[in-house]
Amino acid sequence: MQAPEFKVQGWCPGALRPMESGDGLVVRIRPRCASFTARQLLGIASAALQHGNGVVELTARANLQLRGVTQASHGPLLTALRALDLLDSDPAIEGRRNVVLSPWRSAEDAELAMELYNAIAQGPDLPGKFGFALDLGSQRVLGTTSADIRLELGAEGMILRADGCSGGARVTRDTAVPEAMRMARWFVESGGVSEGRGRMAAHLKRAALPFDTSQLPMPEAAEIVPGQRDDGALIAFEFGILRAEALSNLAKQIAEVRMTPWRMLFLPGATMPDLPGAIIGPDPRLKVYACTGAPGCPQALQETRALARRLAPLVTGVLHVSGCGKGCAHPATADVVLSATRQGFALAQNAKAGAEGVVLKPSEITLETLAKAM
Ligand code: SF4
Repeated sequence: MQAPEFKVQGWCPGALRPMESGDGLVVRIRPRCASFTARQLLGIASAALQHGNGVVELTARANLQLRGVTQASHGPLLTALRALDLLDSDPAIEGRRNVVLSPWRSAEDAELAMELYNAIAQGPDLPGKFGFALDLGSQRVLGTTSADIRLELGAEGMILRADGCSGGARVTRDTAVPEAMRMARWFVESGGVSEGRGRMAAHLKRAALPFDTSQLPMPEAAEIVPGQRDDGALIAFEFGILRAEALSNLAKQIAEVRMTPWRMLFLPGATMPDLPGAIIGPDPRLKVYACTGAPGCPQALQETRALARRLAPLVTGVLHVSGCGKGCAHPATADVVLSATRQGFALAQNAKAGAEGVVLKPSEITLETLAKAM
């Protein structure tokens, strides 16, 4: 088997610690409690135009990232973000503050998240990809979002569940954060971290978890689709990308935005905004994932997004077009996955990026070749 042609970084970019990419630095902004105010969004949009290339991306961990930042513009960008109260005190704390909240979180959940941020800042040194999910809304919605330690609702109240276990331990509002941190410490002390990397589900294949796992979380909510809801509007963007001008336009129409891990924004209490290009209902592009690809990513072997846009109406189920075998846009399995190689795209079914398959040039990928290869 050939060694993969991509590099696994083992950490996610932040604002204080950006990541180099083909189009400059990627600067990731991690909102507190999943929320940005309209003022913060306006400031981010202006900073994206002034200090980056104006591209704003919604990430799979419910963060927002700016692209095309240069070494020279990074400092002024940080000054702008600091003025908006969007920076952590140092890169280590920023790197550890990987907490995804349900966009339907309550004010009490937000308080719990703030407690968790403080505990994480003082807690053990966790791997860069290690994360927490607070999935305490009226429906469980973060089951497929990457996280290692989860706080969810079970039949009798809140539970603490390690990723990879079907059930968790009963906790209360007062014990939730201390117990979550006890689990994080156990992960580190029992050898879950190797060379700065490690994830809970993989570790549990080797180590026995010293926590109760008998309490099942409530079932996952049905598929989440953008549209008007009783409690606000849910709006999506093709590939999770929008221009800073659109972000600014949106910020002028709403009071608050809650980030989601589904390339959608939840606008609490709002009616659907007027935003050309946004996805506001069922759409084949909602099931299509494509990473930056060439030329934006230095590891990319092919262009991805034009191909994904062309194929969206041809594929039933989830389509993932990946610029290399790493699969940044969609780490999970897709119904159809096209992984870029130097010769074209390896086509596989029900697989993750990097799966082997018949290699086709982009021009050869049509409804007929897709059907023949499946
Ligand atoms: S999957 Fe896409 S974005 Fe990620 S490293 Fe490969 S080409 Fe770059």
